[in-house]
Amino acid sequence: MLRHYLVLVENADYCRAITALFFGRHVFAIARLEWMKGNTIQKERRLCRFCKAAIETPEHAALQCQADLYTVNLRNHLREAVRAGNKWEIPVNLTNQSSLYWFKKILFNRDLIGLFAKYMYEISVHWAKTKMFIAPEEITGNQY
Ligand SMILES: [Zn+2]
Repeated sequence: MLRHYLVLVENADYCRAITALFFGRHVFAIARLEWMKGNTIQKERRLCRFCKAAIETPEHAALQCQADLYTVNLRNHLREAVRAGNKWEIPVNLTNQSSLYWFKKILFNRDLIGLFAKYMYEISVHWAKTKMFIAPEEITGNQY
């Protein structure tokens, strides 16, 4: 894999936000709850701290979740910048699969990585301020 972000993202905080994605050391529950040793929480229970309706992955937080206004506002700026730069129209409503598709498409684009790194840094800082949500054990087997 080309580590394009190491060269193209000059701000150290923004660069770390991207590095964290590649190493699974980001703030989102899918990875964060993996670190809790001796306390394995099933993937299905690591739900989004805001919408509590999907597994909290980086792509869910970045492109899919509509439950947090701050994130939605920042995302709208990102969408506008992507539209202006690459002429890509990131859909507002994304499925789990299409959010991952767009996440990778932006992440691996050399023209957008600087913008995306800043965005990931900003939402990571913001999300980390809200306590993670772990679904009770009886709520399993829902829509994934
Ligand atoms: Zn959510």
